[in-house]
Amino acid sequence: MLQESKTKKKKKPPTDPHDFVHGAGFAPAPESIAIRLNKAYGLFINGRFVKASTGKTFDSVNPATEEVLAKVSQAGKADVNKAVKAARKAYDEVWGPMPGRERGKYLFRLARLIQERAREFAVIESMDGGKPIRESRDVDIPLVAAHFFYYAGWADKLDYAFPGRKARPLGVAGQVIPWNFPLLMAAWKLAPALACGNTVVLKPAETTPLTAMKLAELIQEAEIPEGVVNIIPGYGDAGAALVEHPDVDKVAFTGSTEVGKRIQGAVAGTKKKFTLELGGKAAHLIFNDAPIDQAVEGIVNGIFFNQGHVCCAGSRLFVQEGVAAEVIRKLKRRMETLVVGDPLDKNTDIGAINSAEQLERIKLLVNSGEQEGACLWQSGQRLPKKGYWYKPTLFTDTAQSHRIVQEEIFGPVLAIQTFRTVKEAITKANNTPYGLSGGVWTDKGSKIFKVTHAIRAGVIWANTFNKFDPTSPFGGYKESGVGREGGLQGLAPYVELY
Ligand code: NAP
Ligand code: MG
Repeated sequence: MLQESKTKKKKKPPTDPHDFVHGAGFAPAPESIAIRLNKAYGLFINGRFVKASTGKTFDSVNPATEEVLAKVSQAGKADVNKAVKAARKAYDEVWGPMPGRERGKYLFRLARLIQERAREFAVIESMDGGKPIRESRDVDIPLVAAHFFYYAGWADKLDYAFPGRKARPLGVAGQVIPWNFPLLMAAWKLAPALACGNTVVLKPAETTPLTAMKLAELIQEAEIPEGVVNIIPGYGDAGAALVEHPDVDKVAFTGSTEVGKRIQGAVAGTKKKFTLELGGKAAHLIFNDAPIDQAVEGIVNGIFFNQGHVCCAGSRLFVQEGVAAEVIRKLKRRMETLVVGDPLDKNTDIGAINSAEQLERIKLLVNSGEQEGACLWQSGQRLPKKGYWYKPTLFTDTAQSHRIVQEEIFGPVLAIQTFRTVKEAITKANNTPYGLSGGVWTDKGSKIFKVTHAIRAGVIWANTFNKFDPTSPFGGYKESGVGREGGLQGLAPYVELY
């Protein structure tokens, strides 16, 4: 035995410095929990999984491996009709008349089931969407459960939410969600709607339907009455049919500004209430007196973790001239250490880009940045051969007119500019059609108040970034949307007050 170990070859240390910084020194640590995934999923209508009337299915793919994870039924117009009908019946006969304290019990039960199965949900979320397990396990799924717990608590207290007024549910809510936080966006939509007594038809995004289908299984397990929640995966045409359906009372949409505008047009002049959570182009403002290391970590968290697939991603950085060189140097050094690869590995910082289509869009915008004269820098990670990947990227020498500064890239790409005065920073940060979020980094409290009041954005973090809690409202100014989700404010769009 001793002999054997003596003759064993020593592992050669990596010669490429990137191998050290990019984590080759760590053993892989993939999440190993057993998950249950069906080969095929039907639409979830009236408490049952059913085939789509179109007879069509589509593949949900793992973007890290390009493997098909499951076949999913594709809802058509007839299925939308069926789902809305089921939701209407459930609203009229069961959920609408049910006392709030009873509705609350169902939601608490669902929240507990999500908590119990949190690891399985996290793994499936990472497989279906490409996000690192660290994000889905530590952020997405705990927030999903927290949202259901929070709104379950409101179900029997609506009279206190709107003192002196009575709150009445609206009826059937049609909800359409994107692929970047698949289950979390479902929770943001479902929890307040159900707590207020509405029933729901939810359409998940085409690339990430699987955790929504798993949620449908939990809804069955929680014995939520049939028809209260209907989940119909499909493409944009199913989403359009849902928001245009005449028997839908409330439309809730999270997605791109482009589609949001189309939806706003579709509901104009109808009885429908609507909320739109749309795109963003958040700015970080780093002042000379900022805690630099903390700021660099906040920037990395805001744009590189989660592949920049975050509506409130800090995709623009404005840094005061006195610290610009230091910030950029430290940022590049930190970017070199990010681990890009298997989303199921606990060491991974940057997972897979959600789809081939999204990867193409990132490449197109990055090319435009180079063509327009900005200076590109990318860290040296080697990307896996299979799947969709993109290196952490930053641009310096950018101008306000560049597409990479104006348009949402939705990838790990940061555009940097410098500024001299507070006024200049505010003007530059506000020079965008969006207004979802932002970040301010400074040691001075008065500057935080001045800047956060002057920036037209729904959420601004100070000396931190991307922090969420179900009790705080979230939503946009300008072309980033209409209405608020989360907190007490998130109840209002789902009730009529009298
Ligand atoms: P998207 O293309 O707008 O799609 C969002 C959802 O709408 C998908 O389910 C999509 O179906 C569906 N859809 C497409 N066309 C439709 C139509 N005409 N009528 C109704 N529904 C339609 O957005 P995405 O690319 O999935 O998501 C990324 C965007 O979401 C980014 O702009 C991001 O900023 C935004 N976002 C915003 C927030 C926020 O809170 N403000 C949060 C997360 C994401 P398909 O899957 O078939 O396309
Ligand atoms: Mg997928």
